[in-house]
Amino acid sequence: MKQAILGWMMLLQSFLTAHADPFFHDLPKADLHLHLGGAYPKSYLFSLATEEQKEKLEHALSSVANRVAYSEVFTVFEVVRQLVDTEIKVQRGVEALCRELKGDNVVYVEIRTGLKDLGHGAEAYLQAVLAGIEAEKSNRFTAKVLLSLQRNSSLESARKTIDLAIKYQSRGVAGIDLSGDSTVGDVLTIREELVRAKNAGLPFIVHIGEDPREKDQLFLLETLQPQRIGHGVHLMPQAKEWILNNKIPLEVCLTSSVLVQMIDDLEEHPGIAMLRLGHPVVFCTDDPLLFSVTLSDELFRAHRFGGLSLEEISEVNRMAFEYALKQKA
Ligand SMILES: [Zn+2]
Repeated sequence: MKQAILGWMMLLQSFLTAHADPFFHDLPKADLHLHLGGAYPKSYLFSLATEEQKEKLEHALSSVANRVAYSEVFTVFEVVRQLVDTEIKVQRGVEALCRELKGDNVVYVEIRTGLKDLGHGAEAYLQAVLAGIEAEKSNRFTAKVLLSLQRNSSLESARKTIDLAIKYQSRGVAGIDLSGDSTVGDVLTIREELVRAKNAGLPFIVHIGEDPREKDQLFLLETLQPQRIGHGVHLMPQAKEWILNNKIPLEVCLTSSVLVQMIDDLEEHPGIAMLRLGHPVVFCTDDPLLFSVTLSDELFRAHRFGGLSLEEISEVNRMAFEYALKQKA
C-alpha cells in the first residue's frame, strides 16, 4: 500500500515536470494504442456539455487520475456517450483529437474504435471517424483506424465489424483490435469470424495480459499471429515465451497500467524488463482523456521511472514507426 501511494505521488510529480522538458515534446511521435472513446479532448467534450455534465466529467476524471476510484472510468465513458451522440459530433471530435495530437507533435496515430450505431448505422459511424481524419491529415500528420472487436461479441456483431474492416481495408482501416473484458465470455464463440478476418489479410492487434485469469492467451496468439500486443502485463509463461520468440512488439501504456491498478508502480511494468532483454516495445497512451496523459508524458515517465536514457527514448520512439501497421495500397 505504501508503495502504491509512493508510486501515485511520483506520478503526480511527473505530471508537473513532463511538460517542462521540451525534449519529449519535440520528438515527432507515433501513438499506436489509443481508444477514441477515452481520447476525445476534454475541451471538445466541454463545448458540448451542460454545467452538470462538465462537473460529472471533471469529478470522474480526477478520481481516475488520483487512483481513488477506477469505477469512475465507466462514468467517463457514459458522459462521452451522451455527449458525442451523432455522426457529425464524432467527426468534429476526431478532428479535435487530431489537432490535440499534432500539438503534442504526434505525427502518426492508430485510432481504435468499436462500431456504433448513432442513428444511421455502423458504416455511417465509421465514415464519420474517417472523415474527421481526412479533414486533419497533412504531410506532417497521418492517422489510421483499427476497428475494435470485443472478445465477447456475438457472432453477428463480429461479422458486421469484420465485413466493414474488409470493405475499408484500403480506405483507412488498418486492422482489428481485439479488446474488451478478458474474463467474461468465450472468444471461441467468434472463432470463425476471427479466422475469416485473418484469411482476408487483416492484421490483428490483441489486448493480452490485462488480467491474470485469462485462459485464452496462447490460443489467440497462435490463431491470430498478432502484429503487436496491447499491455502484456499478466502473461502466462507459454504466452510470454511465444511473444519473445516471435519478437512481437509490446504496447506499454505506463500510466494506464498504474491507474487501472494492473501494476502498482511505473517501474514495475514487465514491458520495461522485456525491453531490457532486447524485446521490441512501444510506449502509448491508451486513453489520453481518461488518464490525463500525452505521449510526451509517457515517454518522460519511461525515462524518469523506467530508467531509459534519452538516447534509448529516441530509439524506442523511432522504432514505433517501424511497428505501425502497413496498410494495403
Ligand atoms: Zn487499450
